[in-house]
Amino acid sequence: MEYLPLFHQLREQPVLLIGGGEVALRKARLLAQAGARLRVVTLKLHPELEKLLEQTGGVYQLRGWQAGDCQGHVLVVAATENSMLNAEVAAEAKALHVPVNVVDTPELCSVIFPAIVDRSPLVVAVSSGGHAPVLARLVRAKIETVLPAAYGKLARLAQKYRQAVKKRFGDLQQRRVFWEETLQGPIAEQVFAGNFGQAEQMLQDKLAGEAAQVTGEVYLVGAGPGDPDLLTFKALRLMQQADVVLYDRLVASEIVDMCRRDADRIYVGKAASNHSLSQEKINQKLVALAQEGKRVLRLKGGDPFIFGRGGEEIEELAQNGIPFQVVPGITSASGCSSYAGIPLTHRDYAQSVRFVTGHPKDGNLDLPWSELVSTTQTVVFYMGLGTLPVIASQLVRNGRAAETPVAVIERGTTAQQRVILGTLDDIAKRIMDEQVESPSLIIVGEVVALKERLAWFAGQQRNL
Ligand code: SAH
Repeated sequence: MEYLPLFHQLREQPVLLIGGGEVALRKARLLAQAGARLRVVTLKLHPELEKLLEQTGGVYQLRGWQAGDCQGHVLVVAATENSMLNAEVAAEAKALHVPVNVVDTPELCSVIFPAIVDRSPLVVAVSSGGHAPVLARLVRAKIETVLPAAYGKLARLAQKYRQAVKKRFGDLQQRRVFWEETLQGPIAEQVFAGNFGQAEQMLQDKLAGEAAQVTGEVYLVGAGPGDPDLLTFKALRLMQQADVVLYDRLVASEIVDMCRRDADRIYVGKAASNHSLSQEKINQKLVALAQEGKRVLRLKGGDPFIFGRGGEEIEELAQNGIPFQVVPGITSASGCSSYAGIPLTHRDYAQSVRFVTGHPKDGNLDLPWSELVSTTQTVVFYMGLGTLPVIASQLVRNGRAAETPVAVIERGTTAQQRVILGTLDDIAKRIMDEQVESPSLIIVGEVVALKERLAWFAGQQRNL
């Protein structure tokens, strides 16, 4: 190990910063966050650095560095563009045994700044020893994605109850188990969901030994339209902690595979006319599993609240007093339109967009057609492949121009995505010729014509 990672307590400690430009400003911000008492020596001071010093009680001297400046500081940072000067500063600091950092010059440093993931009081530091800072930043970005933003709050909860837990459990092992359960179970979930008060109450109950009865919960999670990269951080986190997963046909297998390995997986898929488990049965199953104390993940294509029957599922959960969370997902209209290069709205062509179901009710497609024919509105039909001939002819009959452009996007956002273009007049025939299959989304409106103009952009996203 080239450097030993240590965390430096700088509160109220004198730190010398040589240099007053952009780079110095960046370091000053970090040092100020750690509560350091800053002294800046520079010939020229960035106005924002001056403001920062003013706000944090720091001082500056507008002059060149002088021998002896390093004395009396617990840390010296040289951030000037003058490499000779930087070397002089470093030499003096080292002679005085004061830790020194010279920006972008690892060979002159006795300490280096790591890349940081800040969930204070939880802080993760990553370093490549100054050899590959970009790699360290990439690793940091990865860590950012797996540590929920609310981890800081979770750490604060632990901080607040540390003594109480110590008092309650004299035994180290018991304490460890207590914290392991608390920091990754339902109490942590409450913190992540923003219910700090509820989390505290549960923690207090647990401390008082009143939490014997285990309650499960349900996560209703939107998995997006297909591309696993379109999952949210929250979706992924819950997928990795659920005990059992109920998923349907629309959820890509790569996404289901990202769930916790040992989680039970239950397929409740629904093809348009071939319900393998009725909605009623799914609702009951969610309740039953949660009542067994399980953390149940209901994984849905797109967004659970857009033609996802999420509303019905949570109604049943609420009636049975089962705690639940709903995690939004990217709905297929957003995903497919982006990946196909068709903006759903556009200043000049569409001032509104409407999501409509094309699924017939009792064999009839009874839609408010007159509301769907405005030339400045984009209309997106979900579940409309089977009824596309009716949709197209009804729109024309109600006044939308026969040459209105239409796009049908099959398996949008996946590697198998296909986009079939046409007009209200000919799209039904085209999808027959192309043997388009489900799931497919239909976009009707002038914005579809922009696809050609934006072809370059779409090509950048994915080679269609
Ligand atoms: N809750 C989902 C929609 C469920 S309804 C969402 O927010 O996207 C099912 C319909 O969604 C399908 O019939 C199809 O019209 C559309 N759909 C879902 N995934 C799709 C995909 N990858 N490509 C095209 N259409 C898709």
